[in-house]
Amino acid sequence: MSTFDSARLIALFEAVATRIETEKDHLCALDGHIGDADHGIAMAQGFNAVHAAVTDLDPGAAAPSDVFNTAAKAFLNAVGASSGPLYATAFMRAGAALKGKEVATEDDMAQAFQAMAQGIEDRGKAAVGDKTMVDAWRPAADALSKAREGGSDLAAALHAAEQAAAKGAEATADMVAAKGRSSRLGERARGHVDPGAASAAIIIEVMAKSLSATGGAGGEGA
Ligand code: ADP
Ligand code: MG
Repeated sequence: MSTFDSARLIALFEAVATRIETEKDHLCALDGHIGDADHGIAMAQGFNAVHAAVTDLDPGAAAPSDVFNTAAKAFLNAVGASSGPLYATAFMRAGAALKGKEVATEDDMAQAFQAMAQGIEDRGKAAVGDKTMVDAWRPAADALSKAREGGSDLAAALHAAEQAAAKGAEATADMVAAKGRSSRLGERARGHVDPGAASAAIIIEVMAKSLSATGGAGGEGA
């Protein structure tokens, strides 16, 4: 069974920041159809700030909860767009879920993932079908729970979450938005994938890959 120390969580945020940077233009283009074309910029600024902040931590002294709490603060300070407080809340909730743990177990990480999805829902008050990032996060969290309940290890459960997130993000193309900037467009939003759902699917994919990778710094054990 894998365990997750701070070094591994810092590496996770590095992987997300690197990938989001390469998706920046794509995410801005999606936001250009139904929003204000800044989503890629917002996410890249946010995750680059997170990367810088968590890299400054001493992985020997920082606990897993410190990594997520540092990420929350950095993301909130860097992002003025509506995705700022949503991801800041997600990371704060993950930090709370991991409180007091020196090293996170697979169960702990599954709970942290659930806490992120719940935090985004609580903060944004959006539900599945509202054409937001919740359309990727909620099915991903549910798929992860179901897989864990069925006895899957974290890697397999995250793989199920990744697939559910991709499917959920794709489904937003058929939706009219009920929350956020694009809700003003009514029927004109239909036919376009929600940028926040698209970035969520990317983040979840990178999380799944990074947390499933074996042999990384402190990655194996227990
Ligand atoms: P802004 O709309 O302020 O420009 P971004 O472009 O960074 O912010 O992010 C837009 C994304 O934020 C949307 O595509 C949607 O997925 C997400 N979003 C907006 N409002 C909410 C909400 N209330 N709950 C969940 N997600 C939301
Ligand atoms: Mg925008």
